[in-house]
Amino acid sequence: METTELVAGFFQGLGIIAVAAFIHEAAIRFCLSDRCRTVATTLVFSAGAVSSMSLPIELAPGILFDLRHAFLVLVASYGGWVATIITAIAALSFRIWQGGAGAVPGVVGILVSASIGLCFAYFYARRPAHRLEIAALGIVSNVALFSLFLLPWSTAITILGKIGGPIALANVVGVLVAAEILNRNTSQYARERDLAAQARIDALTGLANRRVFDEHGSALAEAAIRLGQSCAIMVVDIDHFKRVNDTFGHLGGDDVIRRVAAVVAENARPGDLVARYGGEEIALVFPGQDAANTQLVADRIRNAVEAMTIDMRGIAIKVTISVGFSVVGNTEGAFLMALQAADNALYDAKAAGRNRVIAALAA
Ligand code: GH3
Ligand code: MG
Ligand code: MG
Repeated sequence: METTELVAGFFQGLGIIAVAAFIHEAAIRFCLSDRCRTVATTLVFSAGAVSSMSLPIELAPGILFDLRHAFLVLVASYGGWVATIITAIAALSFRIWQGGAGAVPGVVGILVSASIGLCFAYFYARRPAHRLEIAALGIVSNVALFSLFLLPWSTAITILGKIGGPIALANVVGVLVAAEILNRNTSQYARERDLAAQARIDALTGLANRRVFDEHGSALAEAAIRLGQSCAIMVVDIDHFKRVNDTFGHLGGDDVIRRVAAVVAENARPGDLVARYGGEEIALVFPGQDAANTQLVADRIRNAVEAMTIDMRGIAIKVTISVGFSVVGNTEGAFLMALQAADNALYDAKAAGRNRVIAALAA
């Protein structure tokens, strides 16, 4: 075996790693659920390991080298134990099918690499983030090379003595390159997902923001009405909130908004839309709820807020809310009309003395 053959095989292996990592990124973006992402990772790592093995360098008759270990030690970190087992089975089956004198050490080496990856992922870090960690993982993956001693010792010592160093280095570089591309792709994807989520979530309360309410509120109501269900809209406003700000400052006021928002959200169901509509106003859409049910929910929220004590730097304070609600009708533009009606009912609740729930007469 020539040095040029080893170098060419190494770069070929790196090419397979790069292609696999980019396919992995595309697949992750395409998937909407964690399960889909695990399946995609399993497929890409299994295909990557087998593709590497299909273009091996023959160190001695029947004894094959390739960059399969990069896939095998990293699969647990990116796809979990199920992905590791499936990738290992794919690699094992392929190595057994390839046969030759190196089949038994090859099989043992695959099991060793997959086990190292699993131990790393579960006992150390779910994902190798620093290059030093990745390099250490690459170095440790070379433990698999000791499986060559399952061959006659003279063969193992000849192979390792001649090219053990370059092979070990190739394994480390393979793991480094694979993890670098995978980490870049996944962190870029995570950043984009965070930004998209931030654009929809109110930073102070963690509720949906006004934009989400405006974009999805009416669609939610229309979908409920299409199904023959009713849909209610509720608007909540903290009473005399300016006094809280004046007494405890804007940051104290923020705390109160956060606590009230949490109480409101706790009393909503998973399918309801709860959004921070304005400063200390929260708007809700309740698909499937009629006026009687909405009255019950509104009373529950109002009672819970009234019962809550908020600690403001050692001073216990209480706040109340006023609530207006309405039921969406079955006509064109009914959502906006119902929102306006709920807002008018809120205004009536304020005018009637606050800390109360008022239902709009007709939406
Ligand atoms: P009312 O009972 O009639 O509702 O009286 P109010 O004092 O609560 O009046 P209003 O609802 O109009 O008060 C809104 C106040 O909320 C005015 C504004 O300074 C304050 N505000 C708006 N956004 C924020 C915010 O993000 N944080 C804090 N702390 N205050 C805010
Ligand atoms: Mg207010
Ligand atoms: Mg207000």
